[in-house]
Amino acid sequence: MLRDPFGRTIDYLRVSVTDRCDLRCVYCMPPEGIPLKPISDILTYDELIRTVRVAVSLGVRKVRITGGEPLVRRGIVPFVRRVAEIPGVRDLGMTTNGTALPGMAAALRAAGLRRVNISLDTIRRDRYAEITRRDALPKVLEGIGAALRAGLSPVKINVVLLHGLLRNEVDDFFAMAREAPVEVRFIERMPIGCSPSEGYVSTEGVRERILALPGVREARNGSSSAAVTFEVPGFAGKLGIVSPVSRKFCSGCNRLRVTADGRLRGCLFGRETLDLRGVLRGGRGDGAVADLFLEAARTKPRGHDLCEDGDAPSAAEPMSRVGG
Ligand code: SAM
Ligand code: SF4
Repeated sequence: MLRDPFGRTIDYLRVSVTDRCDLRCVYCMPPEGIPLKPISDILTYDELIRTVRVAVSLGVRKVRITGGEPLVRRGIVPFVRRVAEIPGVRDLGMTTNGTALPGMAAALRAAGLRRVNISLDTIRRDRYAEITRRDALPKVLEGIGAALRAGLSPVKINVVLLHGLLRNEVDDFFAMAREAPVEVRFIERMPIGCSPSEGYVSTEGVRERILALPGVREARNGSSSAAVTFEVPGFAGKLGIVSPVSRKFCSGCNRLRVTADGRLRGCLFGRETLDLRGVLRGGRGDGAVADLFLEAARTKPRGHDLCEDGDAPSAAEPMSRVGG
């Protein structure tokens, strides 16, 4: 079992499979995209499978595939199947912008994907095009439907709170959770990526609006859950808030991350990364990979020190490479 010096058990691995993406969200990437790593630096699927196997041998049970946009990497469906077939992987999820889900949701489900988080910051087409710099909203909405029909469960909608979010847009998402069995989660933007110290909006205002809904009650989540979730009578779905800045949840953090270019990270923030790619390509056995995981757990920071008016931490690197 992987434990860190602060008593946290590490059983969750987030794997970024690519730094490429078909969108250009204003808070994540500049219009021209980020400088991409050469393909030879990106871990191969075989290397990723070996990594997950070793992590599972050390007690990891939950795996999330992310990016960049994971669905733009060729061969992602067979990769999902290979991960799902690793004995010991109990929970396999993906974070995606959803643009490719209309054609892929059923195949992903059949390959063994269980749950999906779909990023969607507005359901107004012009605003979506402003935020992502692509006119892709119809595809994403179609993708949400495809994910539900395919039986992916839960389907969570990640809404990053942005300056200028209209009151009505929050209502749009309440309506979505009323009508569809999805969990809409409002998330504080973190000072990472583009314009790091601008544009922070706390979840407090949305929380107050959720608490004003008739009959609303807070649902119980596991101690490692980042979200506070609410159930509302008459809603097919749920609402949630994730407040990494105003109410950080580091004390329950159970995860490690593998970046697209093969580094092992204990935290989204901070300088510490370990050279997983070097070990995987260095001709050494799985014991050396396991040692690296033990080192990552040993050096996992107690927490981040983001604050509401703070700048980006010194070593913040693009979310699209680290994997959100
Ligand atoms: N491309 C996929 C997507 O958008 O879902 C997966 C990768 S993306 C980096 C993962 C998540 O990180 C998305 O939900 C995105 O909204 C979120 N994200 C990106 N930059 C962020 C920031 N500065 N603060 C908070 N969330 C951020
Ligand atoms: Fe792409 Fe996801 Fe970043 Fe948006 S948040 S640019 S979809 S990686």
